[in-house]
Amino acid sequence: MELQVEEENNKKNASSAPGFNKKRAEGRDRNDAPKNLQLKLRKLNPVNTISYLQILGTGMDTQDTSPSVLLFFDKQRFIFNAGEGLQRFCTEHKIRLSKIDHIFLSRVCSETAGGLPGLLLTLAGIGEEGMSVKIWGPSDLKYLVDAMGSFIPSAAMVHTKSFGGTDETTVLAGCKQLDNPIVLVDDEVVKISAIILQPHRFERQALSPSEALNSSNGKNKPAAKPGDMSVVYICELPEINGKFDPDKAKALGLRPGPKYRQLQLGNPVQSDRQNITIHPSDVMGPSVPGPIVLLVDCPTESHLESLLSVQSLTNYYNQEGGKCVTCVVHLSPASVVSCSDYQKWMKKFGSAQHIMAGHEKKNVDIPILKASARIASRLNYVCPQFFPAPGFLSDLDHDFSELGPLASSENSFSESSKVISAENLLKFTLRPYAHLGLDRSCTPTTVASTQIIDDLLSEIPEVVEAAHHVSQLWQQDNQKKEDLVPAADRNTMIEEPWLGDSSVPSCLENIRRDDLEIVLLGTGSSQPSKYRNVSSIYINLFSKGGLLLDCGEGTLGQLKRRYGVSGADDIVRALRCIWISHIHADHHTGLARILALRRELLKGVPHEPVLVVGPRQLKRYLDAYQRLEELDMLFLDCKHTTAASLDAFENGSDPKNNNREVTASKVDSTLFARGSRMQSLWKRPGSPVDKDAIYPILERFRGVIQEAGLKSLISFPVVHCPQAFGVVLNAAERTSTSGKVIPGWKVVYSGDTRPCPELIEAARGATVLIHEATFEEAMVEEAIAKNHSTTSEAIEMGNSADVYRIILTHFSQRYPKIPVVDEAHMHKTCVAFDMMSVNVADLPVVPKVLPYLKMLFRNEMIVDESDDVVDDAVSSAY
Ligand SMILES: [Zn+2]
Ligand SMILES: [Zn+2]
Repeated sequence: MELQVEEENNKKNASSAPGFNKKRAEGRDRNDAPKNLQLKLRKLNPVNTISYLQILGTGMDTQDTSPSVLLFFDKQRFIFNAGEGLQRFCTEHKIRLSKIDHIFLSRVCSETAGGLPGLLLTLAGIGEEGMSVKIWGPSDLKYLVDAMGSFIPSAAMVHTKSFGGTDETTVLAGCKQLDNPIVLVDDEVVKISAIILQPHRFERQALSPSEALNSSNGKNKPAAKPGDMSVVYICELPEINGKFDPDKAKALGLRPGPKYRQLQLGNPVQSDRQNITIHPSDVMGPSVPGPIVLLVDCPTESHLESLLSVQSLTNYYNQEGGKCVTCVVHLSPASVVSCSDYQKWMKKFGSAQHIMAGHEKKNVDIPILKASARIASRLNYVCPQFFPAPGFLSDLDHDFSELGPLASSENSFSESSKVISAENLLKFTLRPYAHLGLDRSCTPTTVASTQIIDDLLSEIPEVVEAAHHVSQLWQQDNQKKEDLVPAADRNTMIEEPWLGDSSVPSCLENIRRDDLEIVLLGTGSSQPSKYRNVSSIYINLFSKGGLLLDCGEGTLGQLKRRYGVSGADDIVRALRCIWISHIHADHHTGLARILALRRELLKGVPHEPVLVVGPRQLKRYLDAYQRLEELDMLFLDCKHTTAASLDAFENGSDPKNNNREVTASKVDSTLFARGSRMQSLWKRPGSPVDKDAIYPILERFRGVIQEAGLKSLISFPVVHCPQAFGVVLNAAERTSTSGKVIPGWKVVYSGDTRPCPELIEAARGATVLIHEATFEEAMVEEAIAKNHSTTSEAIEMGNSADVYRIILTHFSQRYPKIPVVDEAHMHKTCVAFDMMSVNVADLPVVPKVLPYLKMLFRNEMIVDESDDVVDDAVSSAY
């Protein structure tokens, strides 16, 4: 009886003064009437429009994704390809996403479309009504839309259109192309059509159609499969009228007036002074054919055969009666572009300007995200231990001699052909006609890091001393380890709060630097911004491989920035497990790209599929996605890696019957005297475990954990949205040279959550707690509504759990550079910045560095509402 009353009271409490948003935690907050997302209606300006083509260099420095191409008109914008980081790129370069009307995909894969989910969510959140964009792609697009449907409202995707044969038999019959380009857009300012390329693999492999069909469900993939189609886009601008000649008009007896305009519009008029009809051709100069632009994506040599033979392109070759192509943008990779057949084919376009937009080594020298590169350089100056120089430097050292396709093209091309390498923001003007041609006025120049540091020194001269103090922290720390005598406190501001904290945990005793490094790849919430990418943490276990905790959009790009192009490939190869906290887009949309790259890198090398541990909705997404692109992974639901489930697995019993209660009763925090509502959320019976299906995966999981040098990886439920988890990593114990057994470290990551007893319990005594701190203390109501934590709540969690060090992350994009924190409680805490790399051996120093880092931002601590504004409607989706 009494229990029931308490339940009732709790219910009231939960709705009147809750510590969290119950509706959101249960996933009932987004069941509002679906928005009908509108496309923008534009009044076009066909006569005097400005038009140009521009290379948006996403991935140009990191080489992790395909660049995009913008086709610009005054009143209409088209973007070709939307790889990861496009949104972040547009924010940095002030390209307004709300102005984009159409996105065209040259292929449908993580390389060309990885930025689409984030983009759609952002657009859907713009303004009162939300916005959408028309998305075009070959018929494979339907698989992507299908997959994205597991976390993106379908209203945001209603305007997707796929084209080309969807019928499996046409694919198998030998890659027939359609005879004519498929017209997609045809309005007053541009006509855009598509030609589909399919690989010519069937003849060679001699698979019978039935064999190919049968194998599509099995392990042997057919040669032509979804994801293999690529597209050549043709953009044709209308003919340009010749110039009106007023002298000729006068000679024909015409007075200046409305008839001039009629003639310019192409209509004949009656002469004012003579009895004749004047035709436009009498007074207008000869008209000029409109510019034509081709975008060519020929991903493999087997697509090349299709490209060379496609009939519908012959109209555009430089020959009798053919149309004259002005500019060709080549998205094809260097391996294809450098083929002599491809080079010969390029010559068919006569004097067209060729822009080679495939990846080239020399581009790694010029960061496309200048603002964050600048901050990274400054952080590196003050604290190189936590902010190592970007990994590109090593790429340049090794590979700069390697020449891209440009060099070879230039050699083999005749005088009349123009071939250049794409650069970030390079433009090709199409209108006005007088300016037709390349425009380099926007392309960034390399800013030497010495220049950035010179600027810093003149802006904040004190950083010299700060950098000196920081380096001394390391010396002091080393000394301390040697003689265990506290170093003299040269700087009271820094040393004071730390002096009382002599409790370096025993797991750090004589720890080696190649034991663990925590790399905060992305530290912002909801959407990628100028200075902070979305969530991802790389757990570097060195010779034992590595783990990713969350994997937001652009995670691969961040890895490349940190470790260099080939260094990041090594890391992706050696990934043992990727753990995803929950289904919000800022935590997992970079996953497909990483998995696809890993599969590509390990092609032909014996290996095990990588283990992905995530919430169950993620499996639905990945399963659907795999129809498009093979991901080579093994999925395990987070709920099977909770302490209770793992205990049950080890003891061979049924996990659904025990331990949930045990976890709840162990919680002894007074913070949550009224918090039982939160616990009860997780006490609902789960579905019975299918041991035959799950246990073999758990066996594999156990093996993976051991190979990584861990004792355990345990997920625990947190309070954020349905199926939201945090994770505990326990390292295996080690034996010192003297034979002493030293316990392993413990790293805990909160995922997104409200403060909750489950987290305190899980984080008890942790060496490091990485906790989300989306909002500042003053915004606690916002934190409750969104089921996030404030900085002070996060610190309180760490204190209650008696952890050694706290790293705060997942900051609202309201704080683009540095979050608002209260100095008084930071004695074991540091805030994270993108790329911050904390070696386990440096943990004692962690809280002491922040004051020096803050110095870099002393003029920029204010909330920035103008730059990276996150609309409320947008952030509610994360
Ligand atoms: Zn988040
Ligand atoms: Zn979230």
